Amino acid sequence: MSVAPHLALDTGLESLRGIGRERAAQLRRLKLFTVNDLLFYRPRRYEDRRHFHAIGDLQAGQTGTVRGKVLALGVKWYRSHSKSVFELIVDDGTARLHCRWWNLPFMEKYFQQGDEVFVYGKLKTLKPRTIDHPETEVVEAGEDRSIHINRIVPVYPLTDGLPQRWVRGLLWRTLSQFESQIVEPWTGIHFPDLPARAKAVRQIHFPESMAEVEKGRARLALDEFIELQLSLQQRRKNLETHARGLPCRGDNRLIKPFLLQLGFSLTDAQTRVLRELRQDLAEGAPMRRLVQGDVGSGKTVVAACFALMAIESGFNAVLMAPTEILAGQHFQTFQRWFEPLGLKIHLQTGSNKTGAARNSKSKVHSGAEVKQGQFEATRLAPVPALYIGTHALIEAGFEVENIGIVIIDEQHKFGVAQREQLVRKGRYPHLLIMTATPIPRSLGLTLYGDLDISVIDQLPGTRGKIKTFLRTTDKLPKVLEFIIQKLADGRQAYVVYPRVEEADLRTGLKAVTVEFEQLRKQFSPYRLGLLHGRLTAEEKQRIMTAFRANEIQVLLATTIIEVGVDVPNATVMLIENAEQYGLAQLHQLRGRIGRGAHDSYCILLADLKTPQARERLSVLEQTTDGFRIAETDLKMRGLGELLGFEQSGVPGFRFGDLAGDLPLVERARTIAMKIKAWQQRGIQ
Ligand code: ADP
Ligand code: MG
Repeated sequence: MSVAPHLALDTGLESLRGIGRERAAQLRRLKLFTVNDLLFYRPRRYEDRRHFHAIGDLQAGQTGTVRGKVLALGVKWYRSHSKSVFELIVDDGTARLHCRWWNLPFMEKYFQQGDEVFVYGKLKTLKPRTIDHPETEVVEAGEDRSIHINRIVPVYPLTDGLPQRWVRGLLWRTLSQFESQIVEPWTGIHFPDLPARAKAVRQIHFPESMAEVEKGRARLALDEFIELQLSLQQRRKNLETHARGLPCRGDNRLIKPFLLQLGFSLTDAQTRVLRELRQDLAEGAPMRRLVQGDVGSGKTVVAACFALMAIESGFNAVLMAPTEILAGQHFQTFQRWFEPLGLKIHLQTGSNKTGAARNSKSKVHSGAEVKQGQFEATRLAPVPALYIGTHALIEAGFEVENIGIVIIDEQHKFGVAQREQLVRKGRYPHLLIMTATPIPRSLGLTLYGDLDISVIDQLPGTRGKIKTFLRTTDKLPKVLEFIIQKLADGRQAYVVYPRVEEADLRTGLKAVTVEFEQLRKQFSPYRLGLLHGRLTAEEKQRIMTAFRANEIQVLLATTIIEVGVDVPNATVMLIENAEQYGLAQLHQLRGRIGRGAHDSYCILLADLKTPQARERLSVLEQTTDGFRIAETDLKMRGLGELLGFEQSGVPGFRFGDLAGDLPLVERARTIAMKIKAWQQRGIQ
C-alpha cells in the first residue's frame, strides 16, 4: 500500500539512453539513483521565461530573458592559443547584447548568423551590454514550445560539472517516457481538488502556471504525509498485537497519602490527565501517551502519581530528564515526596551512577510470579523503586528489572530513537512522554502520530502574573536597578547569557563568566551564582541547591536552565541578547519564572536593528500562550529552531512543509485511518 514504484520506475539511471558513466556518477552525488528518484527531484526554484525583456531596458545587475537575432559571432584566442573567448552578438531591435563564454570554443558551432535565440542571464555591464555564460537556446523552425525557454522552467539543485540544461532536458525526456507509469498509490481514494499523482509530477517540473506548481506540490506532500501516517499507525498496530501492557494500575495505597502530604490539591486538568493515564493502564496494549502542558502547568506531580501507580503494583519506574540539572532537581523533589512513603529513589547521571542500579539484578526476588500475556513479570521484593536519570539511563551499563513504566520529561530534547532505546530497557513498559514545548498540531501529528495525547491546559491558580518587557541594550542600567529593587523585596532573579567564557565583540554576544565578574560588585550585598555547561556536575548541583535555598539571590546562567528548573521565589528573569533565540526557546526560559504566588517579570534585552526583529520578539510581550508562540516560531524560523538540533525524530519531507501544511497533515491522518480500516476488513 505504500508508494511502491513500478518495476520500470526502479530502473537505474545509468541504463537510460544519454546517461554515461560520468553523468551517472554526478547524479549519484545528488542521491539520484533510479528513474523514480529523478521524477521526484524537486526544483529549487522556477523561472518564468515566457515574458521577455527588451535588451535596451536591461539594467546592469539585472537578470532576465531576451529574444533576438544573432548579428555576429566568433572565437578569439589568446595566451598563445591556450585560452579562448567565444562571443555572440544578439540584437532584438532595441539594443545589442554581447554574450561571452570562456574556453568553450566549440560553442561556435551551435550558432549561425541570423539564428533566432533566447538568452537568459545577468547583465554584467552596460557599455557594451554584456552577459557572461548565459543560458541560450536557438529557436528551431516549427518549434512552438521548448524545454528551457518560453515557459516556466524548473531550476534544479546541481553538483559540479552537471549543467542545468542537461538535467532539465533529462527530466523532460524521462517524464515523457515514464509519466504513464506513475500510478495512484492509494486505491479507492480520490482527491477532487488535487491533480492525479502523475499530473502532479509533471506540474512540479513543467508547470503551465505557478498555481500549478503549488497544486502539484500539495498533492505530492499529501502522499508523503499519508505514507508517514500509515507507518505510524502500523507501528501502533504492531505494539497492540505483539505486546500486552503490564498490570500497573495500582491500588491507591501510596497515591492517597502522597496527595495528602503534598500541600496543594491537583488542578482539574491534572486530575483529568491522571484519569486518562489510569484508563490506559487498564487497557490491553502498553500505554504510549504524550502529556503536553505549558511551562509551570504541573507535569511533575502527574508523573509522580503515575510512578506511584506502577510502584503500588510492584514494578519499578524510570524517569529520564534531558539535563543533569533537571535530573538532580527531580531527584530532590522525589526524595522529598517519596521518602516519607518509605520508597527508594536512585539517581543515574553521567557523573552519578548509583551502585544500586547496577546491583539490582542481585536483589532478592519474591518468587511470586504474575502471568500476563506472553510475558512473565517477576515482582521485585522488598520494595520497588524510582530510577531518575539523564541519557545515562539508556547506556549499556544500566539495567533494572521489572520496569513497569517509563517517563520521559521534556521529550523535545530527546530524539525518537532515544525514546525507543529507553523503552527497550524493559519488556514493553508503559510510556509517558511529557513536554512543555507546545508542539504545533501539524508537527504533533507527525512526530507523535503514534501516541495518544493528553493536555494539561490549566495553570495552578495560585500564580502571580508574568509581565514581559522588550528593551534595547542601552536600557541595561535601568533594568539592573529594577532587578535590585525586586531583590530588596525578597525575590530572586535569573540573568541569562548566550555564551560561556568569551564574549563575541563582533556580534555583541555576552559571556556569562565575564559578566559575573562585572556584576558581582554592582549587586552587592546580594550574592551571585554562576551556572553553565562547563562546570562539573557537582558544581552545578551545588549552585542550584544554593539558589533554591536562597543562599544565592541572582543566578547568572547560560540556557542550560532552559528546561524544567523550578524555583518559585525566583520571579525576575533578564535575558541578554534575546534576538539570538527562537520564540519557543524564550518562552521555555521565561517558564522558569511565574512559578510562585508573586508577580514575575521577564525582560528581553535585545539588539533591535530591524522592525522585524522587534515585531518577532514583541509576540512574547503580547502573549504567554505557548501554542501561539510556537506556531509563530515555526512560521518564522522553521522546524530546527523550534525543536533544537537535538531533535532527530523529524522525518524529512521532500514536498511537505510542516509549517504551512497542517490541513494536509490532518487530511492525511484521516485518509490513513480509512485505508487501515479497509485493510483490516480485507484481512478479516
Ligand atoms: P512543569 O509542568 O513546567 O514541569 P512543575 O511540575 O515543575 O511544572 O510545576 C511547577 C510548580 O507548580 C512546582 O513548584 C509544583 O510543585 C507546583 N504545582 C504543581 N501542581 C500544582 C497545583 N495543583 N497547585 C499548586 N501548585 C502546583
Ligand atoms: Mg517540568
